[in-house]
Amino acid sequence: MKNALVLCYHGYRFAGSTYADNDFIALEQDLALIRRAGRRIVSAQAIAEALAGLRAWDQVAGSIALTFDDGTCVDYRAFQHTGLGTLRPFMDSLARHDARATSFVIASADARKTLERAALDGEAMLTHDWWSPALASGRIDIANHSWDHNHAAMAGDAPGTHGRGSFFPIDNEEAANWEIDQAQAMIASVTGRLPPLFAYPYGHVPGYLADSYLPRNGQRLGLIGAFTTAGCNVAPRADRWRIPRAVCGDHWRTPGELAAMLEALG
Ligand SMILES: [Zn+2]
Repeated sequence: MKNALVLCYHGYRFAGSTYADNDFIALEQDLALIRRAGRRIVSAQAIAEALAGLRAWDQVAGSIALTFDDGTCVDYRAFQHTGLGTLRPFMDSLARHDARATSFVIASADARKTLERAALDGEAMLTHDWWSPALASGRIDIANHSWDHNHAAMAGDAPGTHGRGSFFPIDNEEAANWEIDQAQAMIASVTGRLPPLFAYPYGHVPGYLADSYLPRNGQRLGLIGAFTTAGCNVAPRADRWRIPRAVCGDHWRTPGELAAMLEALG
């Protein structure tokens, strides 16, 4: 049976002017390529459901799913950037090509404020006012990218851990509750829906989460699967708590490289 392919884009890669360093240029060209190739676009949730035995693999075999990480508002809507003027959103390309995607958002409002200051020149791009409209559009699902990314910009350690700037310290129940459970609850309080999917910050997969915590607690949390950035395509028997994704600008940098990845699906 054919594999599937999950692609990952970042809404903060907006400052460059070429395919290789601007994910908005890349997504537009990639969607045109995927449509010319006649590939189906499915939701990341559908792929997770197939791996969980909730639907037949046939329904996603050979297909593509799109994901956006870190939850900048330009996943969904235009933004007036102080230095760069109007930034057009990924949503424009989704609508133009009749496609859908999943946005993995950071739950904590305080963490998002800290990241705006640390990484986005203070631009207010990590708000959560767009989550519900995006979900209601039917083109963008909202999913969990942790409470605070265990990002190096956060003050102090997350409970139960030592060290920031990596997700590997999230290797025990207290830390997992902090980064995953409370993020599920916060996102649901905004959208009215428990996020069905999780994406590991930095693509770091602590064995404790993938082998123990998520298999034991996934159902209680409403989670069906978790996504890595391993760079390969998704086999029909892949581990649903380690679903690989390919990252734009990292695992492919030209339309030709993506075309080869589509070809490799068979
Ligand atoms: Zn991230």
